[in-house]
This record gives sequence, C-alpha cells and structure tokens, in this order.
Amino acid sequence: MSKDQYLSTKLVTVYCDLGSLAIAHNVFLQFFQPKTILCNVMIHGYLRNEWYSEALDLFKMMRSCGLEIDSYTCHFVLKACTGLSDYEMGMEVVKSVVDKQMGREKFLGSAIINFLVRFGKFDDARRLFNKMRERDVVSWNSMIGGYVQASQLNEAFYMFFEMRKCGITPSPITMVSLIQACMRSGDLELGKCVHGCAIELGMRNDILVLTSLVNMYSNMGDIVSARQVFETMLMRNLVSWNAMISGYVQNGLVLESITLFNRLVTSGGGFDSRTMVSLIQGCSQTAHLKNGKILHGCIFRRGFESNVILSTAIIDLYSKCGVLKQATFVFDKMKGRNVITWTAMLVGLAQNGRADEALKIFHQMQVEGVVANSVTLVSLVHSCAHLGCLRKGRSVHAHLIRCGYAFDVVNRTALIDMYAKCGKIRPAELVFNEGSISPDVILWNSMITAYGIHGHGEQALGVYKRMMAEGLEPNETSFLSLLTACSHSGLVEEGLRLFHGMERYHKIRPTQKHYASIVDLLSRAGRFEEAETLVKQMPFDPGTSILESLLNGCRTHKNIDLAIKTADRLLCLDSLSSGIYVVLSNIYAQAWRWDAVNHIRSLMRTQGLKKTPGYSSIEVENQVYTFFAGDDSHPNWAEISRYLENLRLEVEASGYVPDTSCVLRDVDEPMKIKLLWGHSERLAIAFGLLSTPVGSSIRITKNLRVCVDCHNVTKYISKIAGRELIVRDANRFHHFVNGNCSCKDYW
Ligand SMILES: [Zn+2]
Ligand SMILES: [Zn+2]
Repeated sequence: MSKDQYLSTKLVTVYCDLGSLAIAHNVFLQFFQPKTILCNVMIHGYLRNEWYSEALDLFKMMRSCGLEIDSYTCHFVLKACTGLSDYEMGMEVVKSVVDKQMGREKFLGSAIINFLVRFGKFDDARRLFNKMRERDVVSWNSMIGGYVQASQLNEAFYMFFEMRKCGITPSPITMVSLIQACMRSGDLELGKCVHGCAIELGMRNDILVLTSLVNMYSNMGDIVSARQVFETMLMRNLVSWNAMISGYVQNGLVLESITLFNRLVTSGGGFDSRTMVSLIQGCSQTAHLKNGKILHGCIFRRGFESNVILSTAIIDLYSKCGVLKQATFVFDKMKGRNVITWTAMLVGLAQNGRADEALKIFHQMQVEGVVANSVTLVSLVHSCAHLGCLRKGRSVHAHLIRCGYAFDVVNRTALIDMYAKCGKIRPAELVFNEGSISPDVILWNSMITAYGIHGHGEQALGVYKRMMAEGLEPNETSFLSLLTACSHSGLVEEGLRLFHGMERYHKIRPTQKHYASIVDLLSRAGRFEEAETLVKQMPFDPGTSILESLLNGCRTHKNIDLAIKTADRLLCLDSLSSGIYVVLSNIYAQAWRWDAVNHIRSLMRTQGLKKTPGYSSIEVENQVYTFFAGDDSHPNWAEISRYLENLRLEVEASGYVPDTSCVLRDVDEPMKIKLLWGHSERLAIAFGLLSTPVGSSIRITKNLRVCVDCHNVTKYISKIAGRELIVRDANRFHHFVNGNCSCKDYW
C-alpha cells in the first residue's frame, strides 16, 4: 500500500470514529480508484452510525467498478441489510459468498448466521452452522441469540449445552442471551442457575452480565436479588443505573427509585431521557404530583422536553394526578406528537370525567391525520359510555370494525358496557354473543352488569347459568354484579341463594361490598330483621356502604326507628358519600331531631363542599350537550328557561308538590324551589323536549344519583309531554313512561 493510501485510510477511520461522516466521506472521494480496504473502512463507518443506505450504495459502487469484495465487505453489508430489513439484497450477498467458498470462514459464517436468524430462517442457518469447519464462540452466540430473539427457548438452551460439549467457553454475550431467555420464560429458578453459571465462568465483575441480571430479577419481581446484584457491582454504567431505577418502578417501589436517582446525581453520574421516563412513570403510578413536578423541572432544564416518549409520560403523569391544565399545556406545546401522545391526552380527559373534551381531541386527531390505535378507540368507547352518547359510540364501533381491529375481551367489554349504559341492551347482547364463546370471566361479568342496570335480573341469572354450563369459574366481581342485578329486580330468594353459595361452592369469601349488596336487597324488600341479623353476623364492622344501603331501605319503607339507629351509627363514621347527607337530614327532620339536622348541616358546610358537581348530558343530532346545575351558559338559555317555567306551571297544575327537603342550603322556600328547578337533569330534559321531534324518546345521562324530587317531577313530565324519558344515573336506568318509572321508586 502506498503511503498516501495508508494515510487516507487512517484519516477516514479517525473521522468515522469521531462520527464526522461527512468529512470522512470527503476524504474518501479524493480517491478516483479507492482500494477495497479503504471502501471497507468507509462502509464500516457508515454502519456504526446507522447510515445503512449509504453503506449499501457504496457496496453497489464497488461491484460496478469491479473492485474485489472480500469477507469484511460481505460482513458489513450483511449487517446493513439487516438494519434496512432488506432480505433480498442480503441473500444476493450470501449467494456470492457461497459461490466463492468464503462461507466456511468462521468470521463470515457467523455474520451469515446472524443475518439468517434475524429473518427467521433457522433451518438455513442451522445447515450452514453444521457445515462450518471451524466454529468459535461468536458463531455459537449467533445461533443462541437468534433462538432467544425468536422465543425458541428450548432450542437456545440445547445449543448452549452442545457448545459446552464441544469444549467452547461461553462469553458474556452468551450469558446475556441466556439471561434474556430466562426472562422470557419467566422461570426464576432457571434464572438463578444461569446466574450461578455466569459466576462460575468468572463473570462476577462483568458489567454487561450483571446489568442483564438486574433487569432479569426485577422483571420477574425478585427485587431483592436485583438489588443484591446491583449493590455488589464494582463498576456501573448508566445502563446499569437505569436498569435498577426502572426495576424499582416496575415493582412499585417508587420512593426507592427516587432515592437511587438522588444517589446517581450526588455520585456525579449523568442521566438520560430513559432515566427520566422510568421516574415519571413511577410518579404517575402513585399519583405523586410533588416529585413529578420536581422531575419535570429537571427535564425542562436539561432540554429533554423534545423527547416525545418523555413528554407523553409527563402528560400521563399530570392526568393521573388530575391536573389536566398542566397536561394540556404540555400537550399543546409538544412537537412531533404521535398516536401514543394523543391517546395519553384522550385517556387523561376521559378518566377525569371530561368525556366531551376527549371526543373533541379525537376529532382534532382525525383532522391532523393521526391514525387511532385500539387503545384510543377503547378509551373513546368508555367516554361515550360515560356520557351516554349512543350515536358517537356506534360510530366508534363501526370504526373498530372498519379498521379491522381484532375484537378481544377489552374491546368487547367496553362495547357491551357502552351499549348498556346508552340504554341499548340488544346490541350489547349481539357483541356478547359474537364469535366463539370466550373463556374470559370479565366479558361475562360485563353482560351480567349490563342486564343488572336495566333491571333484567332473570337474564343476568341466565348468563350465570350459561357460565356454569360452560364450566367457567365466577369471581368476586361476578357475584357482585349478580347480587346487584337481583337487588335491582327484587329477586330476593335468588340473591340470597347466590350469596350463601359463594363460599360453599366457589370458595369466594364475601367482602364488604357483597354484604352491602345483600343488605340492600333485603332492605329494599322491607326484610329488615334478616338484614339486621346479617349485619350482626358479619365478620367485620359494617362500613359506610352497608349502613347506607340499610338507611336507603328504611327511607323507602318509612321504618323510622331503624333509620334513626342506623343514622346514628353512620354519623360516627368518617367519609360519608355526599348524597347520604340529604337522606340523613330528611330522616332526622321526620323524627323532629333538629339538633341532629343542624349537626349534619354543619358537617356539610365543612366536608360536603367537596362534593362532585352534578351534571347531565344529552345527545341531540350527533352533538353532546352537557348541563351543570343552574347552568345558564347554553346559547338557547332564554328559550330553555321560558320552557322550564311553563313546564313548572303545568306539573304543578297536575298535582306535583316540590319536596324542598332535597335542598340542603340554608335559604328560604321560594329559593329552594328555584334551586330545584336548576337541577341539571331538568335543564337537559327541557332542552331535549325542545329540540327533538314530538313523540320521540329522550335519553339523559346523569353522573350522580338522581334526587327524590327530580325523580318525582320526571314522572309528571313524562305524562304531560307524552314522551318516554330514559334517565341513567350513577346507579341504574330509569324508564319514565306515562307518569311511572321502571325502577318502581327503588334506586
Ligand atoms: Zn334533582
Ligand atoms: Zn326511577
């Protein structure tokens, strides 16, 4: 080689090492007739910087100039083909290698095996492997690694034992492949064996092997072993730190992850966006806003905000903590938002009860041409269910079918729930019965719940019988749904039979919730003695839900004595639901216990202020309108309020008397009546009557339980307007027809 050529080869190498590919390329171009060795250096440079197409172009140029292609060239080009997923081109190279009999060299042989296994051609790879004259650890590693990547774990271990039989000493890479195999198999014992084997092979200080072990142990939930490995490491790099930090997060030890991060920073180590993604995910898991904000500041200062994965994690964090303003702020500022980002924002809105905004985000997403994935669509179905907007829900269902998404348990459960909550039991049944019988209990439970909220107790029991016939085991939730269904339909005996059979036949011990359901069932039926006995026999103190069920029963059956007794017990407990205050105050008022009434009022003033605002939504002509109590923000407000006033006069003329005990504000009677007429469901009903054709039915969705007075007035309105009014509240469906409600006043 001439001095010139030697020097320029050196130069190209140096520039490639520095990552200055453009300069390297310029030096390279100085030669009109570069030799093979110089081309190889250049191709290798491209490869290391992942410039795969450039590497292939240079290779093609070499071929057209008739330059010699040696085993190094082939080795590099095969790697480039793997990087580009270009199987055709790679095979051309492989053929030329085989033609020239170069394939038996162990170094090139391993490269070909690597290439073949990456494309899943295990038989070809194995054939070539067997033909190789000389096999070193690299060729064995290629085969083992290939099998692990393809999850053919038995084959991988078989190859390992063969390798040992041939007297080849495994390298750290071999062990890393095996550790990954253990992780994929989920076999902790096997993982410990491989760990021991690596130590025996003298790798107790190998950073690569130890980091893989940290990963493996934390992935399998053995965080103690993971920590042990990490703490005994003599040297650590950022990958090892990241492995341990993300290990803590995966195992729910978020505070430990933050402590470790502080240790990393104080020890003078740097961190990268991966470190931050783990930490932020940890904070959103535990909804730890304070730490999350500190980390966000850190991310901002380091300029990591342009990282899409990280910003998406931040949006998720703020949504989980309920700080939607911050989430939206990050979202709006972000560049390069992908489908995962959009979905995070959409899910955040939906889970914070802002379903209408979630639908808007979906619309915007479509406008910007981002294709939704199945997570987006399922979350959208949940939003539609929440708002009770059937039309939108149907269109998302159609979207799911059009995009050819597989109908798995998650999709189907969401759809069943959506149709049921939108008052359509028939399409819910269709989704449930579609395709083969699913062995997943979740799906069956969703159908039981669907029948339950519609008061179709018999059908719910039918689903349970089918489950039994199919040999499926019901779980806790199945029984909860079944008991609720029985309760909503007055099926007392059936409910009791199920309840008593839970432990006996299915080994499921009833929880507080199950007891609350059965107490609810008995007290709705007025069987208070049995309910009381049950409460006494319970293995735990009755919680709020059980006493509330009892109290609600007493209210409907006017059992004042028991009501007072229960109310006194309830008042001793903390954290009452906001709705129960009204019931309590009414009961004390009926018993002339004004001291207690005043006490409840003062409790409400301090605690009740935190209660969720009630709202009702209605879908009219493909648009969802949401009304809050006393909400005059609607553009047609004048018209709505005039209509409401007429409605009030009409219902009062036909015998309706307002029950102002539903208003617990300290105001005079006329003001109380005014407040009642501002309840969100009345606004939604008035708007619905105004903007839909005469005679058609109206669907309203309310986020809380409907109050006694609204329930009563809706009955009158259904008669006067001659319309079917379907109201879904937090508990169940009410079908108001001709002055009556399907719930028979139990809700
Ligand atoms: Zn009301
Ligand atoms: Zn009702």
